[in-house]
Amino acid sequence: MFRMARVYARRLIPYLLVIILFILLSWFFSFQLEEDAAQKRQISYLRNRVAELKSKVREYEQDETPRESKQGAYSFAEAESRRFYDKPQLGANHGIDRCNFASKHLKSSAELQTVELYGNISFKNENGGVWKQGFDIKYTDSSDFTPSRPLEVFVVPHSHNDPGWIKTYEQYFADQTKNILNNIVEKLEVDVKRKFIWAEISYFSMWWKQASQSLRDRMLKLIKNGQVELVTGGWVMEDEANTHVYAMVDQMIEGNNWIMDHLGIKSSTAWSIDPFGQSPTVAYLRKRMGFTDMLIQRTHYEVKKVLSQQKKLEFMWKQNWESEDGKNDIFCHMMPFYSYDIPHTCGPDPKICCQFDFARLPPTKYSCPWKVAPTLITDGTVAKRAEVLVDQYKKKASLFRSNVLLIPLGDDFRYDNPGEFDKQFTNYEKLFLYINSNKGLNVNIRWGVLSDYFKKVHERMENSQFPKLSGDFYTYADRDSHYWSGYYTSRPFYKKLDRVLESRLRSAEVLFSLANFLPSPHNAAIDLWKASDSGLLGKLTAARRNLGLFQHHDGITGTAKDPVVIDYGRKLLQAIQNADEVIAASAEYLLLSSEPPSTSKPSSFNALILDEARKSHDSLPEGFVIPVRSLATGALYPLVFYNSLGFQRQQVVSVLVDSPNVKILCHTGSIIESQITPKWSSIEPTSPIAFQSNVYELWFRINIHPLSLSRYFLLPLHTSDVTGAATRSTLFTLRTEKNVDMNFEAHGFTIQPVDPKEFQLSNYQYILHFGDNGLLTGITDRNTLERSKVMLNFVTYGTSSAKDKSGAYLFLPDGPAKSVPSLSPTVVVEKGPVMSRVTVQLQNVIHTVRLFNSPGIDGHAISISNLVDIRILSNRELAMRVDGTELMRKPDGSLKHTFYTDLNGFQMQARHFYSKLPLQANFYPMPTKMVIDSPKGTSRLTLHSAQSLGTGMTSSGEVDIILDRRLMQDDNRGLFQGVKDNKVTPNDFWLVLEKFADSFNPSTKDASDYTLYPTVLSQHANLALNSPMLTLLPKSVWTGISEKDVAGMVGYKSQSSGYLPCDVNVLSFRTMKLESKQALLILHRQGHSCKPSSFGELSPTNCSLANGHINLKSVFHSKNSLQFTEYSLNGITPLNSEISESSVNLDSCQINTYQVKLN
Ligand SMILES: [Zn+2]
Repeated sequence: MFRMARVYARRLIPYLLVIILFILLSWFFSFQLEEDAAQKRQISYLRNRVAELKSKVREYEQDETPRESKQGAYSFAEAESRRFYDKPQLGANHGIDRCNFASKHLKSSAELQTVELYGNISFKNENGGVWKQGFDIKYTDSSDFTPSRPLEVFVVPHSHNDPGWIKTYEQYFADQTKNILNNIVEKLEVDVKRKFIWAEISYFSMWWKQASQSLRDRMLKLIKNGQVELVTGGWVMEDEANTHVYAMVDQMIEGNNWIMDHLGIKSSTAWSIDPFGQSPTVAYLRKRMGFTDMLIQRTHYEVKKVLSQQKKLEFMWKQNWESEDGKNDIFCHMMPFYSYDIPHTCGPDPKICCQFDFARLPPTKYSCPWKVAPTLITDGTVAKRAEVLVDQYKKKASLFRSNVLLIPLGDDFRYDNPGEFDKQFTNYEKLFLYINSNKGLNVNIRWGVLSDYFKKVHERMENSQFPKLSGDFYTYADRDSHYWSGYYTSRPFYKKLDRVLESRLRSAEVLFSLANFLPSPHNAAIDLWKASDSGLLGKLTAARRNLGLFQHHDGITGTAKDPVVIDYGRKLLQAIQNADEVIAASAEYLLLSSEPPSTSKPSSFNALILDEARKSHDSLPEGFVIPVRSLATGALYPLVFYNSLGFQRQQVVSVLVDSPNVKILCHTGSIIESQITPKWSSIEPTSPIAFQSNVYELWFRINIHPLSLSRYFLLPLHTSDVTGAATRSTLFTLRTEKNVDMNFEAHGFTIQPVDPKEFQLSNYQYILHFGDNGLLTGITDRNTLERSKVMLNFVTYGTSSAKDKSGAYLFLPDGPAKSVPSLSPTVVVEKGPVMSRVTVQLQNVIHTVRLFNSPGIDGHAISISNLVDIRILSNRELAMRVDGTELMRKPDGSLKHTFYTDLNGFQMQARHFYSKLPLQANFYPMPTKMVIDSPKGTSRLTLHSAQSLGTGMTSSGEVDIILDRRLMQDDNRGLFQGVKDNKVTPNDFWLVLEKFADSFNPSTKDASDYTLYPTVLSQHANLALNSPMLTLLPKSVWTGISEKDVAGMVGYKSQSSGYLPCDVNVLSFRTMKLESKQALLILHRQGHSCKPSSFGELSPTNCSLANGHINLKSVFHSKNSLQFTEYSLNGITPLNSEISESSVNLDSCQINTYQVKLN
């Protein structure tokens, strides 16, 4: 009955569309009567809309007729004559009128905005006395600390254990961490009052694994009685600048669930003392995971100072989009001083505080740089020493509001020998005894864990008594003009590898979970899914942990020693290989389940492989070349494509073939238009570009449903058989070097001359203009026919000639960037019906710009790839310069000196150029995008990035993206080396230029001085770039399948009805428990702009808006009955009872988590 209704509804759609079309046409004609310029633009939108609807009608009509094999219907000549693809088939983009979230959430109600703090501070770096970066703290002993409101001090022992930095994760564990954790058990058992906090679960789980059962039991007892607290409980203490929300969430899930599974507890307080700058995304994620309190340390010294002066170091951290109710606000404690070591945690004077680090009691490996060593606390000295210490405590307490004081007591890898524990514990216990028994001091002091401190603060004060703050804490400076903006790019090769792993792991998680919820097809090997270390879930777990490890603040930051970087690299590669294996096996399982049994072979789950592999962690991926020439005529070579995203993708893909004589069929048997291009053999910018013989790239468009697999077929052809054969690109060589193999004609390519002054590439959406050096000079939007001056260039930064120079952490340039000489570079232009590109070989970089003739997202983006090699440079940083200053010009001629970068691929932050700050302070992390938005909001240029890099605005308004950095010296932050292990590094971008009419409703405002909302198209472009379509190939060629059999072999389609709304992304679908078939479905409803662009209102992905309403059952088509329960983001705490009817509503900008269980 329901099915019948759907069929009728579907039949009605064309007629409904025709009615809408009629209404729009009426509008169109009524508008045409007026000559107003602004309305003309609206008319052009309507015209587009009409065309879209027309094509939509055509699409539905096509869908209604059963598809016969259309082989040959689409001739070669026809393909070539169609310069551009049909008008994009935009989907049912209704619902835009209900959309007004962005315009109402451009700034939170918080009284503190970090953008304003940076704007108001004068950054004078004035000498504050003993607290050099602060001020002289005064307090009145008699009135500030009284018997009724004494100072409550919690001394919190901790040991900061980096999972990789100077030594590898395993080396640290063997040398130090294992001892530290053993000692914690020994020394805390001595006295129930002794306490300790621990953060890194990567280490804790390693210790647990090798500990005896009795040692585990003793540790567990200490944890259960509150002596040991696991703070944050992430796999690592993650970097907050370069990390992507996917990996941030994943490493927390991994750590938090390890704790729950092994210890039966959950963490509620978070501790982030070492990441180099702090992100509000972390605050949000912690809150969504059920945390109530968090602590941060590394923020700009001038920010610490001003917040100290105003007693605002403790605040409710609020997201900029968050509404009044503050349900995602989290209590945050910012440490006031320079460092988390003991000299900088007892009070303002490090010279005094160092004397209370009893690990530095001589004789010892540690000393006090202030030249006064600690002395043993004895009955004779305790009174005097206590007085000195309490004075520091009271000064520090004066910076806070509650008379509750947190005194962290530890440092990097501290407490690794029992003697150190004894020194700290026994000396402090003498001081505690004295202080507590001298009531006149009005101080209660004891050992504490982090939550003891927060609990006491909350006992004394309501959260409403603290200020609210919104924004982030970038860019961090710890002293002088030492801005930590170098690590946004350091070791970019591994930042890229990290992003590749994230996308592979996410793809593997989604496919594995889909497969796990399906009944076993054809009695296939169910053993595959069994939970064991060698099983697929074991492989996924290992991959999750390796990805998690790299999120550490010396991992993805690129701030570890060379051998440690190699160790991380190997672990990333292993994780990629694990994920690839899971993808291939899961894909095969799903394909078998949707295939008629007659065509499926008995499977060993070993039939498919990904189309690329890496020989080593530091090499580039190499594509598998399909052996077309060895295929029998008429043999079918299946290609399986996998779309891991929640929206439909029409996209251009490519595979490598050893013969240009091929054609591509889709599952209906129709011929798909394809294009053959040469494969360039040069992979290093320093060696000449050459044509690789017998390897070609085959480009074609595919169309895949959300979260689905689709099957296409490649057929070898005789050279005489041209029906449906791939079109060879036409080549244009602007300039070549002598030693370049340009013998294209021998390979069947046509060469045409080109005007060296200016040449163009075009697709349906853009005309790109290039200068004679092969670099982009302008973009014409084909919908509005407006040409915008957008120029790309390459520049280099040197390093300061002063004593302090750039290194792994710091960016200390020697002034503005210099242009890279680009005289007469080799430029090759290729054009064809599917893809066009220009390849430029510059010094230190091969720069490729591509345009796709595609109705999908990729047809709306300009693909930019740089292959960077700066190994011959010395103390240089190479940057790609995006000059969009013309777009940023205000009517009065001045420049809008603001741009936007994302935080963790999760939200956007405004970046104002500050001329009062040095160049390096105006650089920010760019994990996934950089946006410049014209003053009137009529043009928006977005650079989507497939890797984390640093970006900054120059004084003249261009935006530089640092691609790689080679630095010959240490920058004095403990690493003791430069950054000289540069690799040939790929980095990929999509540039999207969106045009908006200026006459639109102000209620569609989507950018402010604080934040910005990208369009749905932009959100989808970002996801598509960062989750590339995956291609799977058969390990051996299938035989016995005829071309006729192809029809109907669709692949695996995950959804039976209802796509996800446009603004909802499947962040992860993560199997937690195999036997009980439990997975976490993590959905992110992205906040987006409601301004219709010249590309249309939403996105060419067949999606619609639904006001956050989702029927979860319709998302994951399953014959079995699924049960959904909402959970905290870490999958630990159920928030509600089971969701009946599986209907849920998501709020904009929120991440919601559902446990999916098979009934
Ligand atoms: Zn650290």
